[in-house]
Amino acid sequence: MAALFSLRKVLGVAVGRGVRGVSQLAELPEMHQMLRQTCRDFADRELAPIASRLDREHTFPAKQVLELGALGVMAVEVPEHLGGAGLDYLAYSLAVEELSRGCASTGVIVSVNNSLYLGPVLKFGTEEQKEKWITPFTTGEKVGCFALSEPGNGSDAGAASTTARQEGEEWVLNGTKAWITNCWDASAAVVFATTDKSLKHKGISAFLVPMPHPGVSLGKKEDKLGIRASSTANLIMEDCRVPLGNLLGQRGMGFKIAMQTLDSGRIGIASQALGIAQAALDCAADYAHKRTAFGAPIAKMQAIQFKLADMAVALESARLLTWKSALLRDAKKPFSKEAAMAKLAASEAATFISHQAIQVLGGMGYVTDMPAERHYRDARITEIYEGTSEIQRLVIANLLLKEYQP
Ligand SMILES: Cc1cc2nc3c(=O)[nH]c(=O)nc-3n(C[C@H](O)[C@H](O)[C@H](O)COP(=O)(O)OP(=O)(O)OC[C@H]3O[C@@H](n4cnc5c(N)ncnc54)[C@H](O)[C@@H]3O)c2cc1C
Repeated sequence: MAALFSLRKVLGVAVGRGVRGVSQLAELPEMHQMLRQTCRDFADRELAPIASRLDREHTFPAKQVLELGALGVMAVEVPEHLGGAGLDYLAYSLAVEELSRGCASTGVIVSVNNSLYLGPVLKFGTEEQKEKWITPFTTGEKVGCFALSEPGNGSDAGAASTTARQEGEEWVLNGTKAWITNCWDASAAVVFATTDKSLKHKGISAFLVPMPHPGVSLGKKEDKLGIRASSTANLIMEDCRVPLGNLLGQRGMGFKIAMQTLDSGRIGIASQALGIAQAALDCAADYAHKRTAFGAPIAKMQAIQFKLADMAVALESARLLTWKSALLRDAKKPFSKEAAMAKLAASEAATFISHQAIQVLGGMGYVTDMPAERHYRDARITEIYEGTSEIQRLVIANLLLKEYQP
């Protein structure tokens, strides 16, 4: 394995927050191109060759996550003084896409640590909380998770029934969180719980919970359709006590923290979907050149060419939307609508492209000798987590209609 180096060192530049506009999207700035290539090389060398085994054996890629930590990829946006790479969100999007192209499970492990765990601590944490809960999670030695969903509510996150009550100098948490990515491998969680259910979403607060911890237990690892190398499980809290100082943000701010975190997280999942889609397209186009039918490569057949063209158009348009949402976020402009659009477009593109890739491969698309079936399984989750496609459409329509309010 080649010596690892930090992203900042390999880029060799002071990274500003400044790709100035969408007009520059046709060609990425040099810094982002280099970062993209670094992550692509890593994915080709370290992830793609083992992705099938990780998937089959449900293995968390601990060694690779450590190497990604050394590269700076586990904490792309975290400032250098806290141990991160100090880069922008476009850089983060490119990194998640390239890693997901090699292994979609690794893509979501990286995305959850960056967007869903470190993101809210960086934005809403005190300086003391940042040092304690961010820095150890930048190196890949520790990963975090985000516990919002519950068995009884996913899309309707404001209906949380996990409770938090104050007892002396402690918060006492009780309840079950469902579907928590990284759960079995995590050393901390951002947990959402209500201090007053009658206040509905305004009663929700966010808490930092170390793992393992007395009163915290894990459910079985879910046996999933795809992204099988990432762990997903229930996080069960029974009289789990944490100090008062583990409240993240203000009391009652939890729903806002969750929604703002998911706005950013959707750019990460859109990027994961792009990586899966690109891998499926690569696989299909390569196979089309090599497979002969009726005396010619199937790439000569217009039916196959049209499929590849439609796949490429869906992918490239979703990629531009994803980059646009990242650029808006980097420019500190509103980006919720664009992030939802990017997530919707990229996840539906990934589902469509991985479906078509299997068609291009015929029987070989249906067996594990080729990666196409894994891409198809991995793509499906991107339409579900961090807000289903239906929820993205609701977000987009609500924001769109506000723009047209008479
Ligand atoms: C592998 C995996 C990993 C996950 N990781 C995490 C994690 O790390 N942290 C976390 O907190 N959660 C996580 N989740 C949970 C995920 O975010 C939820 O599954 C998702 O938000 C959907 O919630 P639900 O499953 O309860 O479906 P429901 O909310 O019950 O929805 C069921 C169906 O109804 C539709 N629907 C619901 N409400 C509406 C509406 N208002 N309008 C139109 N249609 C609607 C949905 O789109 C869906 O089609 C994960 C889930 C999976 C499967």
